[in-house]
Amino acid sequence: MDSGKTYLEVLNWASSFLESHGKEAAAAEYLLMERNGWTKTELVLNLSQPMPTAAEQQLSADVLQLLVDVPPQYIIGSCEFYGARFKVTSDTLIPRPETEELVEWILQENGDAPLRVADIGTGTGIIAVTLKKHRPSWEVFAVDLSPAALSVARENAETHGVDVTFLQGDTLSVLKDVCLDVIVSNPPYISSDEWEVMDASVRTYEPKMALFAEDNGLAVYRKIAAQSRDVLSDSGRIYLEIGYRQGDAVGSLFQKTYPEKQVVIKQDMAGQARMVRIF
Ligand code: GLN
Repeated sequence: MDSGKTYLEVLNWASSFLESHGKEAAAAEYLLMERNGWTKTELVLNLSQPMPTAAEQQLSADVLQLLVDVPPQYIIGSCEFYGARFKVTSDTLIPRPETEELVEWILQENGDAPLRVADIGTGTGIIAVTLKKHRPSWEVFAVDLSPAALSVARENAETHGVDVTFLQGDTLSVLKDVCLDVIVSNPPYISSDEWEVMDASVRTYEPKMALFAEDNGLAVYRKIAAQSRDVLSDSGRIYLEIGYRQGDAVGSLFQKTYPEKQVVIKQDMAGQARMVRIF
């Protein structure tokens, strides 16, 4: 059944409704595209078409969720990462584009030779699953403290048809008997000061344990540094995502742990220090 309105009319209503409540209007467009599986071009081509009643009702329901700051990715229940779709729930951090750059860096620097790799704090499993998908010869482990996150990650691995060994535990403690070539992590790194000023939608809906870390955001890096010595091979390397102000602190922490290795800090596309490699 037709709602008697075009997509454009309904979208305009949704956008101005959100705007008048101080919310991001672009989210309505994102939801409309996601619900229909449309690209931006397909959206534009369909704007003058009549909108079915069911679609209008769906958008209205979605807009009400946006009104209470639910992140659009949680409303949809999935999002894109490195060109593929991953399930996300409120038990898992929503993948950020910076993490695609971390994955890209690892893939660029590590070819097809078999490697043993561990992703620490896997969350949705995006890093582990994407690496295994692009490097099938690698043996990939993925660790998380949260059983709920691990079940989402397992589902994502299954959807993508890749074999990742998931382990529940604290950082590297569950990998004691494994010799690793690569350790990768996007750990929680938000300090208490930063946490206080984060968007309401992040603070209300995203898991704090995936974002916040004690010790000025450095607590988990310290754990990884200390524990990695026992499991990293002599020629092993570590790739980390970091907060944009943590380059010096994380760099010197790992340099102290690994005086024999070189520490490199890499900027993201926005020009912020965002990744560290210890090799
Ligand atoms: N980049 C994320 C943010 O700023 C933080 C991710 C993390 O703590 N690992 O929201």
